[in-house]
Parts: sequence; C-alpha cells; structure tokens
Amino acid sequence: MMIKLKGIAAAAGISIGPAYKIGKEDIVVPRQVIQESDIPLQIQLFEEALIKTRKEIVELQKKIATDLGQEEAQIFDAHLLVLEDRMIIEEVISRLKKERLNVAFIFSEVLKKYIDVFSKIEDEYLKERTSDVNDVGKRILRNLLGKERKGFEGLKEKVVVVAHDISPSDTAAMHKQNVCAFVTDIGGKTSHTAIMAKSLEIPAVVGLEEATSKIKTGDTLIIDGTMGVVIINPDNDTLNSYWEAEKKLKGITDAFLAVKDLPAVTIDGKHVTISANIELPEEISAIRLHGGQGIGLYRTEFFYMNRKDLPSEEEHYQAYKYVAEEMNPHEVIIRTLDLGGDKFLSQLEIPSEMKPFLGWRAIRFCLARPDVFKIQLRAILRASVHGKLKLMYPMISSIDELMQANKILEEAKEELRNKDIPFDDDIEVGAMIEVPSAALTADLLAREADFFSIGTNDLIQYSLAVDRTNEKVAYLYEPSHPAVLRMIKNVIDAAHKAGIKVGMCGEMAGEPAFVLMLVGLGLDEFSMPPFVIPEIKYIIRSVTSQQAEAIAREAMLLATGREVEEYIQGKLREILG
Ligand code: PEP
Ligand code: MG
Repeated sequence: MMIKLKGIAAAAGISIGPAYKIGKEDIVVPRQVIQESDIPLQIQLFEEALIKTRKEIVELQKKIATDLGQEEAQIFDAHLLVLEDRMIIEEVISRLKKERLNVAFIFSEVLKKYIDVFSKIEDEYLKERTSDVNDVGKRILRNLLGKERKGFEGLKEKVVVVAHDISPSDTAAMHKQNVCAFVTDIGGKTSHTAIMAKSLEIPAVVGLEEATSKIKTGDTLIIDGTMGVVIINPDNDTLNSYWEAEKKLKGITDAFLAVKDLPAVTIDGKHVTISANIELPEEISAIRLHGGQGIGLYRTEFFYMNRKDLPSEEEHYQAYKYVAEEMNPHEVIIRTLDLGGDKFLSQLEIPSEMKPFLGWRAIRFCLARPDVFKIQLRAILRASVHGKLKLMYPMISSIDELMQANKILEEAKEELRNKDIPFDDDIEVGAMIEVPSAALTADLLAREADFFSIGTNDLIQYSLAVDRTNEKVAYLYEPSHPAVLRMIKNVIDAAHKAGIKVGMCGEMAGEPAFVLMLVGLGLDEFSMPPFVIPEIKYIIRSVTSQQAEAIAREAMLLATGREVEEYIQGKLREILG
C-alpha cells in the first residue's frame, strides 16, 4: 500500500530508489574493573583515541574543504571543539581514578550525561548540536574500542538511506557513493546534516518522525527533497509522474552543466563576470570544476582562525601568491581582514561587545591596528606581481575610512619600495558596499575607489535592522525589500556614472531569482559559491539585455518584498520555460 509522509525539506531534488535502512549505531561498551596500576595505561589509551579522532576529523575536514567548500568543512569545527573540551576530558580522568573502571566505559557514561544535557536545551539551534556531540563521541568510542566504522562504500546499487538520525560524518561518507537520497526521523533545517546534504546535492527529507517505523529495507521510495515529501511503495501512476519529474530535473541540471565553461553573456551579447567566493585556497579546484571566471571574494579572515598566533607576512604572501598564480589570467579580489560580527579571532584580544555587528568590526579594527593591517597589505602587494590581484576593504561606512585605509596602503607600498620589493603599483582597490551609509554615498566613495563590491549579506541586515544570525527575525531578512533594491540600484548607477565597475559578493548574487533583475540593473560581476555558477550562467545566457532591463524596471516599481519575489520568480519560470 502506498504511504505518503511529510517532513522537512532539507535538500532539494527528486530521487527514486530502494530503501536501505541503517540502525541506530549502538556501540556496546564492556564494563571492566581495573587495577590502580592500570590507570596510566587507560589514560594513555584515552589520549591516543583523542589524537586519532582529531586526525580523522581534520582529514575529513580537509577533504570536504576541497570537494565541497570551507563552509561545509567548518561544520567539523564544532566537533573539534567537543573533542578539546577540557571539562569532558577532566571528568573522564577524574572518574577513571575514582571509579577504577575501563576508560571506554567511563567515557561512554560521561558522553551520555552530556548528550542528555544538550537534548534538554530549549534553544532549537543548541539542541541540534546534540548530534555533533553524539557524532564525535561515537568516533572516540570506536577508536577506544578499536572498532571500524561502517561506511557506504560497498553499496552495489543506488539506494535511499533511511535512519533515525544521520550525523554530518555519515553524510560526508555518502559523497561519491551509491546513495541517491536520505531520510531521517529527526533533525531540522538548520542541522549540519541538512547543510551538508545541500552541498552534496543529494535530496534529503528530515524530521519525518516515523520514517524508520514505516519503511523497510527494499521498499521503493520516492524522495521529493524540494517539497519535503516521501512516498513509500508508490502506485504506478505516482511512480510514472515522479519518473517524469526526475527526468525533467536531471535534464535541467545537465543543461546547466553544459554551459558551465561558456561565457556569461546575454543572447544579445552583454557580458558579465561570474566569479566565486572562497575562504581557503583549497577551494580553487571547485571553481575550475564549475566554470568560475576568477574570485570575486576571498574571505581572508579564515586564515586567522583556529590558531594561536597571528599569520606572518610570509604565510599571507604564500597563500595569495598561490591563489594569484592558480587563477591567472582571471582576477582575484582579496578582501582584507573582516573580523568581528560573527567572526572572532582568539589570538587578538578583542573585548566582547553588546552589539558586535555594530561594533569594532572589519575596517574599523584594521584602521585602529595598522600594525596588523599592514602585514596583510604588504603580503597582498607582494603577491600582486604573480597574477591579477585586486584588494577591497570590508564595512566601509564613509569616505574618511576609505581615505585612511588607502593612506595605510600607501605606507605599505612605500615600505616595499624602500626595500626594492616588486609589486603592482596599479593594483585596483575597491570598497565593499555593505553599510547603508556607503550605499547612499556611493557617488562620493567612487572618487576614492577603483571598483565596488556589494556585500548584500550585511547590507540587508543593516538596512532592514535584522540580525543576520537570528532565526527569530529571519522572516524579515528580505533581499527583495524595495529599500535593498533601491540601494543596489543607487550603487550601480553612481559607480557607472563615475566610470567604475560594480560586483556583488553577498549570497544574493548566487540566487537564481535575482539574477535577471541584477543583470537588468547593470551589475558587472556576480560572485558566489562555486556550485551555483553553472545555473547562474545558464539563466544569464537565456535572456536578452532588454528583457533583463524590463524585469528590473518592473521590479523597482513594486511596493513589497513579497511582490518583488513573486514577480521575479514568475519571470524566471517564464524565461526558462
Ligand atoms: C556580505 O556581507 O555580503 C559579504 C559578502 O561579507 P560576509 O558575508 O563575509 O560578511
Ligand atoms: Mg559582510
């Protein structure tokens, strides 16, 4: 009998295949009494297991950064934090000494206690982190007991994985294996598993509650990851209609991929640049794979994270030189340090602030600490002879800041000149437009900048007074809000009047619905996560510039974000058929 379940749409797409149920991984941990003389050995076993686990996670993280991107790899930072949690480690060691039981058993008891505490937290986000603690805890236990983890390597045919819960590690293990979709009983939209599924481009539905009780291994399943629907043992009509939909969807994806290496040009010959956002040099392979034409945003603050000291000029230089050489002849825009807000660095002692997004952030910090700023500027300048580098400053809110930053840049140039170190004296210097005051004074800023890059992630949060990290006000975070559109238009018009180019590197640039309108408004460069590049190119290649301009004109007349959204979505559907 056909059964339909409704859950949370975690990763879009349609897949049809046989169910492959995986049980909860209950690791049986023996309880053994130990002698006092065995305590040092047990502690050593524990330390070795922690080291081994750390190595596994770091390796997995590296692989994910290369295959998928830094954002996905960062998911495992949470795991490393759990692994290094002093409280857990100290509790295990002190109980080991007191209770004289084997370390694996003690650790499993401590783990249970922490999972219990986490799962009772009211906050949805923190609750989701239970699976992170569980995931890393099981890794440590397996290493303590010398058990191998079951992967998905041996699967002979494409299956739909069905589980009570799936950890981010398990999701990563599905990469390039015979898994065409997965469904779970629990989990939410913000879970790391969901984020990972999206990047792997595997349809997923989570939070189904009764998936494991209703589905048996071998059942035929339809997974509609866009609507959050799972159909168990569908009848022939349903199956046929989903086969059709799946085929259509596959045809669309193939059509996107077919144009990935072609230029981003409208039917009547208007060219724009499609570049990529990266956080680490390892992501260059993903840019090549998806047909990116350079880097529109290199977020360098990740370079400063997860370490105890500040990166040296030489380290900066080597990283930028590598990126410049690898991307040559394409351009690379290096964004100078943007710390603060939601990005903190442990090695710089920055006092915590009540409103970090409105505080000592980005260029404000760099202007106050020219010693730190200049190290990076000199490195960028030195690397500029190895390719086509540009640099840009984040969070510019006035022409004064831009002038001060340029003054420090001049000093950095002078220091290199004095040492006869070569650099590109004509390196282009841009301002990010992500503060409303900058958007409204773009004509003034254009006097001191060689280009602009609109950071919509921040521009939206500051224009609409919506904290970009707060789930409770997420419904107000509207890229399509007329205020945001007017600012974007103002920036593009002011820049073009001054004869300089404008790019966009916020998430909005990679949102299919907005592309046509942005082309119509005259945006010159779109910078986005590599995996969306083919689709965005396809969309641009499907219109004439007149059509795009008409869409922009019409959208600018609408009064609400919802109307704009509906209008541009409708146009996109119409144009793509
Ligand atoms: C932005 O604000 O749009 C942007 C690209 O910068 P970040 O997301 O790193 O703040
Ligand atoms: Mg920003």
